[in-house]
Amino acid sequence: MKNLSTVKALLIVDVQNDFCPGGTLAVPEGDQVVPVINQLINQFDIVCASKDWHPNETIHFDRWPVHCVADSLGADFHPKLNLDSLDQILFKGTSNQDDGYSAFEATNINLTQWLKQKEVKELTIVGLATDYCVKASALDAIDQGFKVVVHQEAVRAVNMDPNDGKHAMIEMKQAGVEIV
Ligand SMILES: [Zn+2]
Repeated sequence: MKNLSTVKALLIVDVQNDFCPGGTLAVPEGDQVVPVINQLINQFDIVCASKDWHPNETIHFDRWPVHCVADSLGADFHPKLNLDSLDQILFKGTSNQDDGYSAFEATNINLTQWLKQKEVKELTIVGLATDYCVKASALDAIDQGFKVVVHQEAVRAVNMDPNDGKHAMIEMKQAGVEIV
């Protein structure tokens, strides 16, 4: 029997081909989060994973190279990511006006409601990229009242500016995110 007061959820953010080396918006070492996540995944009662899921044309591509177009190979999860215990996929950035950085902006489900229905108190966030979607998801999770943990071994940053990842970690910590 699970003790409902300690239900722990894992949120895997955007571990998709286009964000890994060889993809159209590759995060340096993006694929290196995969074995770390595969090791962590069994420690959680509930597992959800977000997908950047863009239309062919969107204002989002004014800022970024075309990536993670819905139903494309680039939008698939990294092939080595173990998703056996995946409970829910979260699609975000689905409209042509929507950056969808945060998994809490998923359009196929209300993530806050879904987690609260399952009595989740603590949400661990891993994936790509530290300075965009991981950060946005972590800050939203804090705003929604969850205890939030980010695994620094299981995230990587875009680092358009070389310190963006570091700054994102500091910003998350200041907002109350536990970095482990
Ligand atoms: Zn995107």
